[in-house]
Amino acid sequence: MKKKKFLFILLALIFIYALWLSFLLLRFKTYKLPSTYTSPLEIEGVYHIHSTFSDGQKHPDIIARVASLSSLDFIILTDHGNPNFESISSQGWKEGVLVLAGSELSVNRGHLVALGFNLPDSNFSQTAEEAVYQIKALKGFSIIAHPFSKVQWSWGEFIDYSGIEIINADTMLKKDIHRSLPYLPALLIKPKYALLKMLVRPEKNLKRWDFLNSQHPIFGYFSTDAHRLYRPVFSLLRLHPLLKNPLSKDFETAKCQVYDALRKGRFFNAIDAAAQAKGFRFWGEKGEKRIQMGKTIVADSPIKLHIETSSPFAKETLLIHNGKAVLRSLKNTISYEAALAGTYRVEVYLKEKSPLGKNIPWILSNPIFIREKKQ
Ligand SMILES: [Zn+2]
Ligand SMILES: [Zn+2]
Repeated sequence: MKKKKFLFILLALIFIYALWLSFLLLRFKTYKLPSTYTSPLEIEGVYHIHSTFSDGQKHPDIIARVASLSSLDFIILTDHGNPNFESISSQGWKEGVLVLAGSELSVNRGHLVALGFNLPDSNFSQTAEEAVYQIKALKGFSIIAHPFSKVQWSWGEFIDYSGIEIINADTMLKKDIHRSLPYLPALLIKPKYALLKMLVRPEKNLKRWDFLNSQHPIFGYFSTDAHRLYRPVFSLLRLHPLLKNPLSKDFETAKCQVYDALRKGRFFNAIDAAAQAKGFRFWGEKGEKRIQMGKTIVADSPIKLHIETSSPFAKETLLIHNGKAVLRSLKNTISYEAALAGTYRVEVYLKEKSPLGKNIPWILSNPIFIREKKQ
């Protein structure tokens, strides 16, 4: 009799759980923009991907097909190796997607992603400081990967790093797997939903980024670190570079265009699985000149900063100066007179009913740096 009662309660609980999860999944949708929200100067891509050339599950050709189905303009493979010559040789236009490849180097301080370099004659050094110098000498740039994961970054003195990862999806999924346990079955039905639920606010990364920016300009990246589940991950975290001309059909030119935007910080990051983020802009105005994200402005008078989030989704925009919010607004168009020197960047939070946590930035801009004119 007791056994029967236990079984009944268990089945009832499973039923309630299944009902609850089905309700959440049925209600979930990615907020999509009307097709008019396109600009040939804004492209979308995914950064930090592993293929079968290191510990990823699929070959670059298959990954490119998935990227094409996900309407991506470009992807950046970052297979392990110092560098990974095979992975790099797989670059090119595939399935209408620009497939670029850098490498994820193992160095004494942690993992360092190298992009846009000319091929070296031999391996890069395993000392971070030397590797960054070698990459730069070959016209490339370096990004500190997942600084707070199991493979932690040990900081040392700041050298010429170009970027730092702010969100690394792989690290979050591994570190906070307990958070996502109630949503695990959703991985089979609506993996995008389950992945969104696994994201947490990258508090430590944001703090470290602001601190580093007080010393030296450095750009922030949303990184997938995808090894599998390419399809849902490709809509989860995206980079949105802003180009000077529409993306070329010529591989070498297109490659230079994407890397030029990334190495100069002329891009923003977004969690596009929650809502499409196209059309966001953050710029400064100096006389007739429009100053893009990533730039340093030397000024002796206040600079006007502009933020435009033309998407119709409910959102709150924060302008952050040296790590502190100086403005919060629910408006689509914002102007701010920046009288103080320092680092200015933008975070946008979704106010829609989304599985994305309320404290996780949906859009993260790169900064504009204002420096005082030396007398
Ligand atoms: Zn790594
Ligand atoms: Zn990786």
